[in-house]
Amino acid sequence: MDWHKLKGLLESYDEKPFRAQQIMKWVFQKKVSSFSQMTDLPEILREKLEKECQLTTLILAQRQKSQDGTEKFLFELSDKNTVETVYIPSDDRVTLCISTQVGCRMGCKFCLTAKQGLVRHLMPFEIVSQVLEVQKQVSQRITNIVMMGMGEPLDNYEAVIDALKILESPWGFQFSQRKITVSTVGLVPEILRFGKDSDVNLAISLNAPNDEIRNQIMPMNKKYPLKELFEACKQYPLKKNRRITFEYVLLGGINDGLEHAKELALQIKGIRCKINLIPFNEHPKGPFKRPSDETIFTFQEYLINQNITVLIRKSRGRDILAACGQLVSQHYTEKFLTVH
Ligand code: SAH
Repeated sequence: MDWHKLKGLLESYDEKPFRAQQIMKWVFQKKVSSFSQMTDLPEILREKLEKECQLTTLILAQRQKSQDGTEKFLFELSDKNTVETVYIPSDDRVTLCISTQVGCRMGCKFCLTAKQGLVRHLMPFEIVSQVLEVQKQVSQRITNIVMMGMGEPLDNYEAVIDALKILESPWGFQFSQRKITVSTVGLVPEILRFGKDSDVNLAISLNAPNDEIRNQIMPMNKKYPLKELFEACKQYPLKKNRRITFEYVLLGGINDGLEHAKELALQIKGIRCKINLIPFNEHPKGPFKRPSDETIFTFQEYLINQNITVLIRKSRGRDILAACGQLVSQHYTEKFLTVH
């Protein structure tokens, strides 16, 4: 429940709206696990909440640590489905990469989560509980949130908006909108809607410089081709000093040539953006290859010379399959991903 829904519930109990703020603070800031611990609520309200509401959390099923300090948390939901959350500490920030769906139905050919298909959407509490539960486990404070785990956030629109409200709220996690990024495959109508509903950062998985290549690797491009996607980017109400991030997975021999870099530079002209190159992270399924470092740097250098801001995303947690595009539910791993 977000604050407004909680307030509505409390009103139906004839309680004052500020009780909603108190409850949110207990759950998300003081991180208690029962209503009885909420000592500044009247006893009668605590008892009513105990009887009629549930304070549900996720069950931590597994925690794996990578050599580079990245950690992958596997959470079990109440219906036994599982999702993965990745904790990425670095010198200047501590990022948590959270999931928004069990599986995904966007069908990107290079992504492991896509192979699982969509099992179900996550509910708002299941999205924010990933932050709550990981923060309980680690000592460093989480400073940044990226919705880049399993699932397509804009395909679970309402729940993502509700979750964002809790992440940002002064009674919730108090994350600044600048410290949250939502990444999308490029669902055009939802991007336009999102621009009106939210002020967090937007990242778009571009991954190709033209429709021909994008159609091959991202089926959603057939529905929303690049012309429409770039038009949506141009219309997107960006705040001052903000830019759209274009993610670009570099797939060896497919989209990583100098000719692709040139085409990409032309395509994004006129859009306030930066590019995040993601060298393909290999996984046991699929034919794709990671380009050589030289190819990656040549691609980056060309774009930099065109005065485009380009970063290469470090592949963190690859040894525990925690890097971009390597997340999948555990039961799925056991059934289909036996690594030889
Ligand atoms: N569905 C959303 C959120 C997932 S973000 C989206 O597509 O943006 C995950 C990012 O990792 C996306 O940019 C995706 O293109 C990229 N990715 C997927 N599989 C990958 C892989 N095997 N190696 C590197 N990046 C990958």
